[in-house]
Amino acid sequence: MNIILLGPPGAGKGTQAKRLVDERNMIQLSTGDMLREARTSGTEMGNKVAAIMDAGELVTDEIVIGLIEEKLAGDAGGGFIFDGFPRTLAQADALGELLARKGARLDRVVEMQVDDDELVKRITGRFTCGNCGEGYHDEFKRPKTPDVCDVCGESQMKRRADDNEESLRTRLMEYYKKTSPLIGYYYAKGNLKGVNGLGSIEEVAAEIAGALE
Ligand code: ADP
Ligand code: ADP
Ligand code: ZN
Repeated sequence: MNIILLGPPGAGKGTQAKRLVDERNMIQLSTGDMLREARTSGTEMGNKVAAIMDAGELVTDEIVIGLIEEKLAGDAGGGFIFDGFPRTLAQADALGELLARKGARLDRVVEMQVDDDELVKRITGRFTCGNCGEGYHDEFKRPKTPDVCDVCGESQMKRRADDNEESLRTRLMEYYKKTSPLIGYYYAKGNLKGVNGLGSIEEVAAEIAGALE
């Protein structure tokens, strides 16, 4: 099964994608993670995207489509979870073509609905284990021992450079202008399911499981 988790920054896409990976052996394709990896590599592409990401703007379609194309060539496991991709109509069209070329299809698009006040809280409290990638939150998901990762035991917590209020304002605007039209696009194709993203992590996981049935 191939699915998209669609939603604004901080909606909980990465958190829920990681659960689906553990529970269903699916493969998470996060263009945000791929771009963050590229920028630490010091490549020309990495340097080009760093400033755009910090400002909260969208990286060019050409770059992200190229990243996804590379990953789609690999093993599909229990299916792909597209997390943070597509973000524009051009990316959505490209994804449709790439899947068709593989003889695969998109089974479901899950739209995670979360209001702006909650998004601001989620983004400003977000941090991640720099060693294993586990996600945390100052208020909603604290590690058992402060600063120590529950999963791997390392003390390498880090915060994203773009998780500040100013960049977040730009990211939300980009979402409403360029990404939210995808809701209508997938509704018209018949595979859109909206879920309430406001509950606890467990509750949202249950909503998503229902949407995937
Ligand atoms: P969030 O967790 O806030 O939804 P991501 O980690 O998905 O953010 O993305 C972080 C940044 O990476 C975005 O603000 C944007 O600059 C860039 N980015 C990620 N995915 C895409 C994409 N599909 N198209 C364009 N830019 C992207
Ligand atoms: P996205 O990938 O959509 O940008 P994340 O999955 O990174 O969002 O979640 C943003 C922040 O909110 C993280 O700190 C995460 O721990 C927290 N979070 C995710 N889902 C929930 C939830 N249902 N309730 C409370 N906090 C959540
Ligand atoms: Zn860890």
